[in-house]
Amino acid sequence: MQKPKSQNAAAGASRPTPRPPARKARKKPLSAYTPDQVEEIFRRFRVQRPEPRGELESVNPFTLLVAVALSAQATDAGVNKATRPLFKIADTPEKMLALGEEKLGQYIRTIGLWRNKAKNVIALCEALLRDHGGKVPDDREALTKLPGVGRKTANVVLNVAFGQPTMAVDTHVFRVSNRILLAPGKTPEEVEQALLQVVPPDYLLHAHHWLILHGRYVCKARKPDCPACIIADLCKAPEKWSDVPAPLVPWQPVEQGRSPEEEVEGGVRPGP
Ligand code: SF4
Repeated sequence: MQKPKSQNAAAGASRPTPRPPARKARKKPLSAYTPDQVEEIFRRFRVQRPEPRGELESVNPFTLLVAVALSAQATDAGVNKATRPLFKIADTPEKMLALGEEKLGQYIRTIGLWRNKAKNVIALCEALLRDHGGKVPDDREALTKLPGVGRKTANVVLNVAFGQPTMAVDTHVFRVSNRILLAPGKTPEEVEQALLQVVPPDYLLHAHHWLILHGRYVCKARKPDCPACIIADLCKAPEKWSDVPAPLVPWQPVEQGRSPEEEVEGGVRPGP
């Protein structure tokens, strides 16, 4: 005689096998560093360069906007060489339009993609006069609607001309953030968002300049100069080859005479 199935067994047969509780997907940390370590990194950057500045020359927000727009796929030194005489005669949208595309082209023809850039600068001046009374707007949305102005250019202008704590991610910021695992990301915008969360608020205003200058002169693309690095003991880059930090002293303006690696390598920046 067949044994009657117990109530439990019968119920068990119809009930799906219970699954182990699903493991929560662990969120990848934004940075390989603790908040204290990040604070220490930027504290040292600040001691080294208390007032970091970009190296693109400009005389007002308009010329800054033009200089940054011209700097895509070019070096700061190359752009400065072309814009120094240009900005002497055309430092407003009106004067730039009066100069005209052809003459503007003659000033900037040593800069890569100059034909397109000349066209964009003229279109930029027309848009500034038409939509903003000839003034450079101080918000990202309006800036990125201007011809030839992308997110990075807008971030530089907002930061340098208007003192906003934006994070402009150029080739150096992108490389350093990824290499040392400070704020890794696959795109400049991912890195920008990570840096905005990782960098302590006190350091946000100058953070992109510190990272650019660190990348340009020390944590260089081809081979990082780790013995010259003030954060070598903290750095978590797999390529690091020295962990003795360089003395923490203000940066000497030797950098003016140095040949930045970006110039050796063509200074390729991401687009505007
Ligand atoms: S130790 Fe080397 S790899 Fe790390 S930040 Fe300094 S230069 Fe770059």
